[in-house]
Amino acid sequence: MISTDVLRNILDVQRRIRSAESAAGRRRGSVALLAVSKTKTPELVRQAYESGLTAFGENYAQEMAEKAHNLADLPLSWHFIGPIQSNKTAIVAEISDWVHSVDRLKIARRLSEQRPPEKAPLNILLQVKTSDEDSKSGLLPEALPELIAAIAELPHLVLRGLMTIPAPTRDADQQRQPFRVLRDTLMSLQKMQPGLDTLSMGMSGDLEAAVAEGATLVRVGTDIFGARYN
Ligand SMILES: *Cc1c(COP(=O)(O)O)cnc(C)c1O
Repeated sequence: MISTDVLRNILDVQRRIRSAESAAGRRRGSVALLAVSKTKTPELVRQAYESGLTAFGENYAQEMAEKAHNLADLPLSWHFIGPIQSNKTAIVAEISDWVHSVDRLKIARRLSEQRPPEKAPLNILLQVKTSDEDSKSGLLPEALPELIAAIAELPHLVLRGLMTIPAPTRDADQQRQPFRVLRDTLMSLQKMQPGLDTLSMGMSGDLEAAVAEGATLVRVGTDIFGARYN
């Protein structure tokens, strides 16, 4: 049975995305919704699938592996969005369809080497620092060209774009600033790499600001599945 909460929350988040698209003059449906299911049960993911979602984001490799195994009967795509430890790259390379949090060459190399050859190349995003109080993860925009050139040599990865996790703020104008930095950074990289098509930015508290600045994918956990307690 689908919990009315999850279904209602999903409809609500989809409505917010559609209205942010239209407020920004963007095409309806141009922003994809990634449901962030970290710490939530496979049963809740199943309910979200039955409510129409197919893309799920996880932060911990082992947890993603267990959920993917439990839900192997469903046509889901798994996005790894957490910090990547080098001893977990094999799991991430095997299970994910996308990895949003690549920020160094060593990890990119391992993901490419460990991607099962029978699978499609792994879609990756580079995590960029766009505000001062950021987490430790992420590269400065200046460091991108060198890493991008090195990643171009890796056969089992496809670089699709950029991701950021700015310091949280409630102020709507302040929310937009780091997203604008990420969008401008992507636009300048697109001059050399026209295939870059993805901006992963915006979460429960700031998705409207991210859509206004050009997000193509928002990552929403709390407003779909409820608060996390661990
Ligand atoms: C947890 C997490 C999210 C979801 O955050 P909410 O505020 O719960 O929507 C999005 N992106 C990343 C990288 C996360 O770790």
